[in-house]
Amino acid sequence: MEKGGAELPQERAIVTEIPGPKSRELEARRSTAVAAGVASSLPAYIVAAGGGILKDVDGNQIIDLGSGIAVTTVGNANPRVVQRAQKQLAAFTHTCFMVNPYEAYVEVAEALNRLTPGSFEKRTVLLNSGAEAVENAVKIARAHTMRDAVVVFDHAYHGRTNLTMAMTSKAHPYKAGFGPFAGEVYRAPMSYPYRDNRAAGTKVSGEEAAVRAISMIEKQIGSENVAAIVIEPIQGEGGFIVPAEGFLPKLVEYARAAGIVFVADEVQSGFARTGRMFASEWEGIEPDLVATAKGIAGGLPLSAVTGRAEIMDSVGPGGLGGTYGGNPVAAAAALGTIESYEQDGLVGRAEQLGEIMVDRLTRLQSKHSEIGDLRGRGAMQAVELVSGDSHEPNPALAKAVAEHAAKNAVLVLVTGTYGNVLRFLPPLDISDELMADAFDVLEEAFAQALA
Ligand SMILES: *Cc1c(COP(=O)(O)O)cnc(C)c1O
Repeated sequence: MEKGGAELPQERAIVTEIPGPKSRELEARRSTAVAAGVASSLPAYIVAAGGGILKDVDGNQIIDLGSGIAVTTVGNANPRVVQRAQKQLAAFTHTCFMVNPYEAYVEVAEALNRLTPGSFEKRTVLLNSGAEAVENAVKIARAHTMRDAVVVFDHAYHGRTNLTMAMTSKAHPYKAGFGPFAGEVYRAPMSYPYRDNRAAGTKVSGEEAAVRAISMIEKQIGSENVAAIVIEPIQGEGGFIVPAEGFLPKLVEYARAAGIVFVADEVQSGFARTGRMFASEWEGIEPDLVATAKGIAGGLPLSAVTGRAEIMDSVGPGGLGGTYGGNPVAAAAALGTIESYEQDGLVGRAEQLGEIMVDRLTRLQSKHSEIGDLRGRGAMQAVELVSGDSHEPNPALAKAVAEHAAKNAVLVLVTGTYGNVLRFLPPLDISDELMADAFDVLEEAFAQALA
């Protein structure tokens, strides 16, 4: 068996080209077996992973700055996760919670009720994916308010199902050709400090940006028709946009006064990632409902909606659920994951990793004017790349840097509405040495791309 987890030597290694011959052989097989619509950022086939290392089939050891898109935040093959999941796997794999319940489901619900922001009475439902969590949050908000409209934001990403495609902002590749979309979804302007301030020539405060969004809601929908406002406290696929301070609290205040359910989509920003257990904590907001997934179970498929008991319980028995939702192995993995966040000091580690990245990226930014903006919180950092003085989005540079990094065994993900954002999401058990090595490679990648 391949060594995984912490047993994997924590060093970058380039044995072949990346992707190497064995990966390319698998890619050829894949192209005749797997639907073309599923793309991979770096087609190096992985055989083992742990700490900050992804080991591929050719023996290359790649530094992981993606965590499978903010999923293996707790580390890949974290011992607490593996142990709990293995034990559960051997005991039983599935009963369907809607047929015969089991304790792990209840325990995960208790943990989420305790950990999510707000000290009020809460309830949780477990599901499989982030999109499913967001869909269920909308179902619950509609059942509670008996209203239809859902407000989402520019640059939002909420998933790939029909309702969440409607809620997602970006057409290519997420929506184009896949309509018609679910109705009663309305898009409000986001607070995007870097571009807001540039366009306005003056600073747009968080409050002003919120007033702009609220005015749109009032004029185009009417608050009495709105079931939910759904927002990522830090936008993920949109480009790690951190709204100006005051934006989120003002929206929460408005929602509360208007009887609108405020839903935080913390699918990407949740679970220690930002240096807080949830990104909502940075602004002290208490969402009515929180949708979670990605970092929840160390890579096993699990998601949840957690929120105010009186809102959650407005759906009657049988109205929520699903065959696999809260699968016992995934639930056991979540318990190991949450235990690790709490017992292994990972929230603090995320903040530390953030400091390391901000230090390196600030120095890099002082050398290259193409790094227009540096933003994020904790171990969720990004740079927005632009062209010279015009600040036009520069997706070509993002692509060139990511490609150079990949060739040199560093995985960096490109994102953003304009495809011009490099995002950094290291697993929290990565070493300082690997971080330093990865950012040396990135520095070289920028120097080469801009030479
Ligand atoms: C990834 C993501 C989703 C969708 O999650 P899936 O598990 O892919 O369905 C929803 N919201 C946000 C903010 C995400 O980052």
